[in-house]
Order: sequence, then C-alpha cells, then structure tokens
Amino acid sequence: MMKNFDENIHSDIYENLINSYKQSKIPHAQLFDSKYGYGALLIIISYIKYICCKDKQGDKFCNTCPSCLKINNLSHPDLNFVFPVVKKSGNKSISDSYFEIWKEMILENPFSDLVSWTNKLDSGNSQLAIFADESREIVQKFSTHPYEADYKFMVIWGLDKMNIQSANKLLKILEEPQPNQLFFMISDNSESILPTIISRVQRISLNRLSDTEIVKLLANHYNLNIDESSQYSRLSKGDYNKALELLSTSSQNGTYLEYFKEIMRYSYSNKVLQIMEWSDKLADMSREEHKQFITYSLNLIRENYIMNHRIKDIVYLNKSEEEFSTKFSQFINDTNILQINEEFNSAYSDLISNGVAKFIFLDLGLKLVKLINSK
Ligand SMILES: [Zn+2]
Repeated sequence: MMKNFDENIHSDIYENLINSYKQSKIPHAQLFDSKYGYGALLIIISYIKYICCKDKQGDKFCNTCPSCLKINNLSHPDLNFVFPVVKKSGNKSISDSYFEIWKEMILENPFSDLVSWTNKLDSGNSQLAIFADESREIVQKFSTHPYEADYKFMVIWGLDKMNIQSANKLLKILEEPQPNQLFFMISDNSESILPTIISRVQRISLNRLSDTEIVKLLANHYNLNIDESSQYSRLSKGDYNKALELLSTSSQNGTYLEYFKEIMRYSYSNKVLQIMEWSDKLADMSREEHKQFITYSLNLIRENYIMNHRIKDIVYLNKSEEEFSTKFSQFINDTNILQINEEFNSAYSDLISNGVAKFIFLDLGLKLVKLINSK
C-alpha cells in the first residue's frame, strides 16, 4: 500500500481535474510537465482514484472501496504503467518485465525520479528508454474494454525517454482517441519530446510544492518536528526528493559532527589514548565515509574560521553545529587555519591512495594536538 500519501497537495490543480471529470470533459491525453519531486504522479493517482471510486464524497475519493484499495496498491486491472527500462538480451524490453521493482519504489516514495529508478535498477551505464516493444504493448492493452472502471488508464512516467520509433507509434495512438482510454504522462524534460506529441496532449505545468506542503509531508512520513521540517523545506525549493536527500545527508552529518567534536576535545586536552581509540573507531567506517568525514570536517573548519572573524551572516550551519561552533570557533584562527586544512587534506589524499585508515586518523589526531593549542 502506498505509504498513506493522502496529503492534499496542489489542491488547485486537483480541483481543476475533478471539475473536468464532473463536466465530462476529461482530456484524452494530459502531460504533467514537472519535476518528479513536485508530486505529479501522486496527483495523477489521486485523480484516477477519484474517477474510479465507488463511494465518492464530494471532491474526495473514499480510500476504502475495493477500487481505491486496488489503486493504492497499484494493482487495479485498468491502471497501466509505462516507464523507461534497460535493454536486456532475450527479454522483451517492456515495463511489465520490471513492474514489481518499479512498484516497490513508487509505493515507498511516489515522488521517486529517474535517478532513483536508475539506482533501483542498478543499471550501471545502460541507457534507460521506452523502447518500440512498449508501443505494441500499449496498443494491445488498449485493444480490450475496461475490466472494472469506466476507463482504461495509461500512465507514462518519463515520457521524454521514449525512443523515436516508440514515440511515432504512440503518436498514431494519440491521433485516434478512444472515449474510454485516458493517457497521463509525466516528464521533467519536455523539450526532448516530439513536438507532434506535445501538440496532441494537454499540458499541465506543475509548480513546486509550497514550504508548508513539504513540512507536512516530512512531518507525516519522517516524524520530524516542525523546526527540522522547516529547515529542510526551506532548502528543498519545493522538491520533496531534494528534501529527502537533505534529510539523509544531515543524519549522517550528525554522526560526523560527533566524531569531529571528539577529536577536537581529545586533541585540545592531549588525550593520546582516546585519540588512539578514536582512530580505531573511525577506521571501521567505509572508505566512502572516510572521505565524507574529511570533507565534512574541512567545511566545518572553514565555517568556524569565518565565525571567529565575526562574519556571522555568511555562515551556514545547522542548529547543533552552530551550538558547538559558538564555543569552538575561537580555536580556529589565522595562526593555525592553513595548517589544519593541510593536515585534513593530506589525510584525504592518503585515504584515497589506500593508506591504512587507522594510522592516518591517528596521525591526524596527534598533529591536531599541537595545532589546536596554538594561539
Ligand atoms: Zn473509493
């Protein structure tokens, strides 16, 4: 079941869609021109749910009738999805071959984009595309009447990934609209869609989500308090995927901040034994995390140097980093900044040339003892 994404987003667009249904004027094909993180798929699914709902309440679907439940599971027999896939020898290159994986991703996060899909497929360098085989499937799926609903729905996710043969076939289908067939398409790159297709569809430009909408989504799905949610929503520029990305970086940064505080505390008070234990602990992280920790530290050092020079306006730190830096920044000054940077940078190069992490961190810690105490 789609993780209860029943938030009311883009209510103005949703209302227009509902009105077109009520006036029996649903366009045959609609293209949602939008970043995936703005929620186009969620709007489309809500709309289809409304159209099919057996127990509509005003402008709302009930979310409990069999039809609503099937759509929530993306398993309604009249609801079809097309999305880019990779070409595999032997297999037909069609969405149905990959549907279970795609469904899993969308049920987890209906805002998922092509980058999440590429990662999910683990497709490496293979190009994602909607191939010619797919258009034959569309024709075939649309050759029968709807099973349960009044319409058959075809949602094309990533329309711009359609290759030219496939696009030409789609064009033919779009040129002969059937009254009980509806197309919903999504693209975040509509410049690469054939103009002849564009001319056959009604375009809906979806704007970014509002800060309030993002705050609500984060609060409902990630248990964040208002302060945290507001911070991410401000930085996400209305893109839910961006907000999620910031969220995941920031929870990792919380760990890095703790490690950074520890080493600065041990170095300041010259606690060699603790510095050794600290090096062992950090050595257990992955190489990628080592690099991230060093990059994070370099950034924090820079911000503290700026803070020490009282140029507070241009400092960007989150709340816990700021709390720490208010006291710590006095230790990063003109005498030591260059050399501290140099030590972190050289640890970085040693790490990427496969040096022994334990010794690299120990060496770094011991060098900091002197540097952090120089006034
Ligand atoms: Zn319903």
